[in-house]
Amino acid sequence: MLAYDLSTVVGDLTPVTTLQQQLQRAGVQVEIHIGAVSPITGEGARVCGSDAMAGRKAWHIYCPAYTKAHQVYHELLHVRWYDVDHAQWLHGTPITDNGIRAGLMLLNNDLDHAHIVREEIAAYPEAAAYWASDFALLFAKRPQGDTPGDRQHRRLTLLRGWMTLPVALPEAGITHQFADALQAEGWMAQARRMSARVQAAGTDKAAGIAALREAMEADVPAAQFCAFSLRLPTAPVAPVAIPANVPGGTIASAITESPSP
Ligand SMILES: [Zn+2]
Repeated sequence: MLAYDLSTVVGDLTPVTTLQQQLQRAGVQVEIHIGAVSPITGEGARVCGSDAMAGRKAWHIYCPAYTKAHQVYHELLHVRWYDVDHAQWLHGTPITDNGIRAGLMLLNNDLDHAHIVREEIAAYPEAAAYWASDFALLFAKRPQGDTPGDRQHRRLTLLRGWMTLPVALPEAGITHQFADALQAEGWMAQARRMSARVQAAGTDKAAGIAALREAMEADVPAAQFCAFSLRLPTAPVAPVAIPANVPGGTIASAITESPSP
């Protein structure tokens, strides 16, 4: 058992250490750095983040000092989802440009959260308020306009929320706000079906994205930009020029915010 200094972490550490031990028994290497920032990504400055760099043996979790225990636990749940449960990664193909690549990272994270946020809240009920405010920020950013692009972006934003909210926060006010907005647009039945299919898909991200595309009634994100692997590719996948007038559009303009932890 590696002796991490978790002394400044706020809250009950029992679920954290139990999950650490479970990962260790499974042979998964995790290093937790409290009060440190990733030298590679800068993660850990404001909230917890993980480096899952391709080709590296260990996961590195970086958190601010005095971080809350549920946030460390959340990062360990991501690790377990990949290295014990063998979830697929959604990532770009060689022709995916960096804007779309960033959007795919967000969707990959959303598909993790559809499964792990419920577990985080089960272990740490105080995490419910954290996630309610995180989804309130996402809701506030949905476009209000009536152009086809605004409508598609709004639909994607609401569906992203609906991957996790009915599962993890079924009674929360923010969940009702997403539901009312989906209902008003006539997208609620598709959202419900997508959420059920994402839950049934589990670690199969390709099936999760297929469910999203059905609910979007569009090839979003465009299939030619999406790849699925059990490991992140060890060699960087270099983007090349995107052909003009790509059918199916892109999600680069639709997803611009930073990923949630
Ligand atoms: Zn996360």
